[in-house]
Amino acid sequence: MSKLIAFAAIQGGYQVVSTVEGELNKALETHNADTKIEFPNTSYYLPVIYSLTGMKVETLEDLIKPMEFARGLLPPHIKGSHHLPYLGPLLDAGMAAIFAYEIKEALRILNDPDFYIPQEDPDLEAGKLWVGPADDVILRKRGVEFVDGTAPGFAAMVGAAPDPEIAKMIVEEYQKRSLYIFCAANHNGKTLVEQCIEAGMQVGWSTRIVPFGPDISSAVFALGFANRAAMSFGGVQPGDYKKILLYNKNRIFAFINALGDVGTEWACAAAGAVNWGFPTLADTDIPEILPTGICTYEHVVANVPYEEMVNRSVEVRGLKVTVSEIDIPCAFGPAFEGERVRGDDLYCQTGGGKTQCTELCKMAEMKEIEDGKIEVIGPDIPDMKEGDRFYLGIYVQVAGREFQTDFEPILERQIHHLINYIQYVMHIGQRDISWVRISKAAVEKGFTLRDIGVVLHAKFHQDFTKILDKVQVTLYTNKEDVDKLTERARAEYKHRDERVEKMTDEDVDTFYSCTLCQSFAPNHVCTVSPERTGLCGAYNWMDCKASYEINPTGPNQPIKVGECLDPNLGQWKGDKEIEE
Ligand code: SF4
Repeated sequence: MSKLIAFAAIQGGYQVVSTVEGELNKALETHNADTKIEFPNTSYYLPVIYSLTGMKVETLEDLIKPMEFARGLLPPHIKGSHHLPYLGPLLDAGMAAIFAYEIKEALRILNDPDFYIPQEDPDLEAGKLWVGPADDVILRKRGVEFVDGTAPGFAAMVGAAPDPEIAKMIVEEYQKRSLYIFCAANHNGKTLVEQCIEAGMQVGWSTRIVPFGPDISSAVFALGFANRAAMSFGGVQPGDYKKILLYNKNRIFAFINALGDVGTEWACAAAGAVNWGFPTLADTDIPEILPTGICTYEHVVANVPYEEMVNRSVEVRGLKVTVSEIDIPCAFGPAFEGERVRGDDLYCQTGGGKTQCTELCKMAEMKEIEDGKIEVIGPDIPDMKEGDRFYLGIYVQVAGREFQTDFEPILERQIHHLINYIQYVMHIGQRDISWVRISKAAVEKGFTLRDIGVVLHAKFHQDFTKILDKVQVTLYTNKEDVDKLTERARAEYKHRDERVEKMTDEDVDTFYSCTLCQSFAPNHVCTVSPERTGLCGAYNWMDCKASYEINPTGPNQPIKVGECLDPNLGQWKGDKEIEE
């Protein structure tokens, strides 16, 4: 990790702790030691301090202990030749700063009780923009959304965009993904929330754009909210810091967008957030912390262009896209899988030996494809007439941090049943021998080839959320495009098959069972080994292995083959036991 960023964060930690110590001493000189200290209407005291240490701050003098605790967390300064990795000290410095920021905010409320308007939405007419820490009523109402998945997490945005249009673009994209946008801090006096208002947006908890406060210390309200959710909904006990932080890392998909110059005060706040597993993405050229460790992937990513900020943040935090609706004009579901499109009902068709119909699924780089992009290149159903036979190439590109090329055939094979799930549409075969028949009823309902892309995008996200982040579908209907895709696909199929063809049963110690077609044949189980595919010929050993990795409780289960009983017949002890 960069010495520079460790230096900045540790330096920032010292600076923030010293400043707040000064503010606390001043408060102790001007107020009685038993003066009440609180965030409004909450039973979680100062929530970050309470949740992580169990300390209950109720009076001014109660602040002394957590302040000392923060000072105690500060690591030694970075010296000239420091060979230790910096992450541990950096995390401590960040946590010290977060504690100090929470004390600072408590002192602000003591000294200026009307600074925040403790309600869901600001009162702009009264000049009250900043809502401060959420009270317990808001926590109960909004926190449950983080638990049931209605809100997968939040974007803590500090600073300001270059102009209101960019602010609006970023914030709206987060809103579309159902994320909350927690705003704090200013950049050269400008704040993101004010830019949103200028761009005509409504702000407040009700629109998920929460104006916490104008300073970097107000960002602590976002962390306090997350920790209260862990205690309130996750049942984690105050003081159990490890569980609280892990709960947040695993369940609250949050991250920080730093818009503007990252000084030492922002750097230590970002370092503090890493303790929660929340990474920071900045629009400026700051030193990065890329290796994984605490956060799911990178910790600090710099120089992110504004148009990529949302996608990059979501990707780095490992937030999965959920597609709940399949927006096509026909009904959709397993109930339609066995439906046939007979001669009289047929409107048009592709494949089946008369024209070419090819399917290919390929892995792509994250930057290469756009999630949800569906294109039909060539004529679509409205351009065809009854009885037409057309060419079709279905090209699905998928990208994901956890995706491997071994998974490509597994996803490709889903195309068969997913198209069959569409009412009034029938699919037979796979690879370059597919056959799709579309009925008059489907066309009457407004079905187009694009809907195949909609289905594949949605279902791949729903069924393979663990391994993929982006799905782009292109449907070719011009003969020359389909021929080109088919040529490429055949090379891919050959390559995939050859990988297994070179293997023998003796090369592995695990075969796989397959029960994929038990909906048709309830008593049927295949054993798939490197030298023997399943009965259908569609599933080889490599496919079963990949399928098991994607879905460990799915239709392909490992069989430890054990001792060879008959080398001529290829019978193995483990396999026999499964059969029996
Ligand atoms: S391998 Fe066997 S169980 Fe699996 S789909 Fe093919 S025929 Fe069915």
